[in-house]
Formats: sequence, structure tokens, C-alpha cells
Amino acid sequence: MKELWFDTAKCLIGGEWTAPAGGGTLPLYDPSTGAEIGAIARGTAQDIDAAVAAAEAAYRGAWGQTPAFERGRLLMKLGQMVLEKADVLAAIEAADVGKPLKQARADAVALARYLEFYGGAADKLHGQTIPFLDGYTVYTLREPHGVTGHIVPWNYPMQIIGRSIGAALATGNACVLKPAEDACLTALAFADLALQAGLPAGALNVVPGLGAEAGAALTGHPGIHHISFTGSVGTGIAVQKAAADNVIPVTLELGGKSPQVVFADADLDAALPFLVNAGIQNCGQTCSASSRILVERSRYDEVVARMAERYDALRVGRAVDDLDVGPLISARQKGIVAGFMDHGTDLEVAGQATLGDLPDGGYYVAPTLFAGATGAHKLAQEEIFGPVQVVIPFEGEEEAVAIANGTDYGLVASVWTDSGARQMRLAKAIRAGQVFINNYGAAGGVELPFGGTGKSGHGREKGFEALYAFTTLKTVAAYHG
Ligand code: NAD
Repeated sequence: MKELWFDTAKCLIGGEWTAPAGGGTLPLYDPSTGAEIGAIARGTAQDIDAAVAAAEAAYRGAWGQTPAFERGRLLMKLGQMVLEKADVLAAIEAADVGKPLKQARADAVALARYLEFYGGAADKLHGQTIPFLDGYTVYTLREPHGVTGHIVPWNYPMQIIGRSIGAALATGNACVLKPAEDACLTALAFADLALQAGLPAGALNVVPGLGAEAGAALTGHPGIHHISFTGSVGTGIAVQKAAADNVIPVTLELGGKSPQVVFADADLDAALPFLVNAGIQNCGQTCSASSRILVERSRYDEVVARMAERYDALRVGRAVDDLDVGPLISARQKGIVAGFMDHGTDLEVAGQATLGDLPDGGYYVAPTLFAGATGAHKLAQEEIFGPVQVVIPFEGEEEAVAIANGTDYGLVASVWTDSGARQMRLAKAIRAGQVFINNYGAAGGVELPFGGTGKSGHGREKGFEALYAFTTLKTVAAYHG
């Protein structure tokens, strides 16, 4: 890949690019064609040991002694460097993840925005003084955890690195990052830019590798003090168990089955682009994808027909073609999504994109809109992680809330209605970490705390809230008489 300026088969440990201790590599595939395009390091427990030791040394040394405002300044400089390289980062992500170029570039811009946000916040997080008994002065200190572990999935590497590593570094932690084996090139590019920006050696270490090897070694490592995990529910449970053994805090950002609830009084012209885009963006491989569209029965047929028109017109192509939808990440993911679609035979295929002349080896599926589902249908219950949405009719508010809350997940939801009172009632009644009213996703919302309830996970990242997650609170009670 001509954009690369670093060795993809290395780990970054203690400020040095090093070959993995076991000497192994993992192949990289371009999802648009299925072609092998390179290799990454297959890091092991030995590399994780070295990375945790390097992070601990940085935390005790140069990075730990860097004042908050200088940490912030460095992150903002790094943000600027990311912005300047946004086109290059987008091209790398497009080849590695199959993401259409415009969507990949938006991720690079969001990464820069996280670095600006957390850079600006670094010297604005502080404790409090607490009125107490006569003769005492009591105050709290917000302190970094120390060494933080970060495990990232393949769907939005840049955005998730931005929100997690950005907040952890801003608060003075030293980080060990294990990117996803299917998508780690932009993580490596980012780490190299961080070195160029002047981040002290060991403040950020990157060990690519398999989840069961490098990932499990990191989450179970006794030298880490906090773990931030974004990924599937099954892995999240394993990560939480490992964190329990070391009694460390864990932030879990897991999956979702996020509903958009459309009432008869909604402005459909405004809603329609959101209803569809929230399902097909990044080929549906978005934790906060809206895979369930709940529509009040009196406008159900109209919504299905208008969504179907959009589905029929969707253009699917290679990432470099920069169309509406690209390929899925891997052959494995294609098999999973196809398997779910086979479970929709009892539903109506209301709309479906046509796959044109695409490379044979690419991981493409036709974006599909299923209608006539109930809230209990398998496609309305389980996370598909592909460009598939189901439309479900409902009658009245009570049923809408029951269906919206009727899955194991609770990540994101939206409500489309003109009624202010209903907006407020539904925002309270729906179980989710974020509820949007007459929009969906708020354009990414770097500033907005994000996270789930139920099997969508716990803890919050993004916004100022993440700064609390990446710090621990110390209370100092001084008796002076
Ligand atoms: P995954 O759980 O398979 O992998 C995520 C990461 O965990 C990868 O880096 C992987 O190598 C690592 N991993 C795998 N096994 C591990 C283990 N035993 N110990 C430690 N680490 C391990 O998930 P995925 O398939 O890559 O990502 C898709 C899932 O992620 C979906 O369920 C999606 O909803 C979720 N996701 C959630 C959010 C969010 O913010 N809530 C964001 C993106 C993705």
C-alpha cells in the first residue's frame, strides 16, 4: 500500500518499533477484493509484558511528570497532525477495513476532534473542597489510574482510539493498545504520529495480535489498572471476568439493537435519510446502528415504501469507489450476515440494493430491508452487524416502548414525533445510553457521553464523562486543629 510509511509487522513498545517476540505475523486482506495486502505483527503475552512494563516506566517517569496543560497541548498538536493526514489515513482505512473513502475520512476527522476535545479538557479536570468538621480541610484529587489497557474492534478503529486513548492520555495514564486483528493499520499510523508529535516513549504502546493471545494477555495482566473494551458481548464477558480477577475497573462498550420509533405525527421527510443511513452506514457494522424501525401503524405502509425506494437505489462498491455502501470486513462476517438473512424468509423483502459488477473475492452483501416483523423475531432481537433493517408496526405509545425495550440491549434510540410531551415521555421510558429526538446520532457527538445499559455494556466514554472513567478519586482529609 503506497500510503504506508511504517513497518506494519511491528509492535510499538517503549517508543521503539519492535518485531513481536514470537516472530509471527498475521495476514491482512482488502475486504473490497479479498486480496492479501500485507501482514501485521502477531503479538503474544511476552510483547504484552514488555508493553505494560514500558507503560509503567512512562507513568512513573517522563509522562507522569508532564503537566496537564502540556499533555493537552501535545494532544492538540497530534490532532492537527491527524487532520493534515486525514486523506492518507482515509486511504489506509479504506484498504484495510473496506470503508468507503468519505466515511473513512470522517473517522479521521473525528479522531482529530477527540484529540482536540480531550487536549482542551486535560487541564480542566479537578477535584473539589468539601465542607467538613471544624479543624479539617478536606479536598478530592482526580488521579490517573496508571496503566490502562485498550481493546478496540475493527469497525471504527480511528474513532474508538480517539475517544478511549484520547481521554486516557489527557488524564495522564500510560496506555497499552491492542487493535483488532482485522483492522490495525490506522492504529499503527496513529501511534507513529504520536511519536512524531513528541509523546514520551512508553506513554502509548501498541501490540497487534489475536484476541485470544495478545488480547487475553492484556486483559488478564496484573500490571494494568483499568481496561477499556469495545467489542462483542461474548468477549466483553471474558474481559470483565479477567478484570474481576485483578479487581480493576472496566468500561464495556458492547453491541446494540437500537430502535428508531416513528410516530404518525413525525416529519417523514426529515426522518427518512436517518432511518436508512443509520442502518447502512459502514455496511451496518456499527454498534449504534439502528437495525429496528418501529412505525405507528397508520403510516407504516408509507414508511416501508419510502425506505424501500432508498434501499433499491443504494449503490454498493469497492471502498475506493466511495459509494453508499462498501463490503463487510471479512469472509467470516459475510457468512454471519448471510446466515441472519436466511432467517428472514418468513418476512417481506421490502427493499434491496442490487449488487452490480463487483470483484469476486470481495465481502459484499446486498443491503436489505425486511418488513412485517414483530419485536420478537430473530432479526429484531439479535445484533446482525450488517446492512439489514427490520420494520415493525406498533399501535400507540405503550406498545412502542414495550417493543423498543424488548431486547437484551440498550445502547441508542431515537424518537420521531412532533409532540413535545411525547418526546419527553419517551426519552424517559426508553432504556438506552443515548436517546435522540428527531435526529439520530447527532453527527457523532464527540462531546456527548456514550455507552450502554443491559448487554450493551456499562461505563461511559466520549464527552467529559470519559475523564471521570479514566481517573480515580482520592479524598484528602487534613486535620489542622
Ligand atoms: P470482538 O469482541 O470479536 O473483538 C473486539 C476486540 O477484542 C478485538 O480487538 C479482538 O482481538 C479482541 N478480543 C477477542 N477475543 C478476546 C479475548 N478473549 N480477550 C481479549 N480481547 C479479545 O468484536 P468484533 O467482532 O471485533 O466487533 C464487533 C462487536 O463490537 C459488535 O458486537 C459491536 O456491536 C461491538 N462494538 C461496540 C461498540 C460500542 O461502542 N458499543 C463499538 C464498536 C463495536
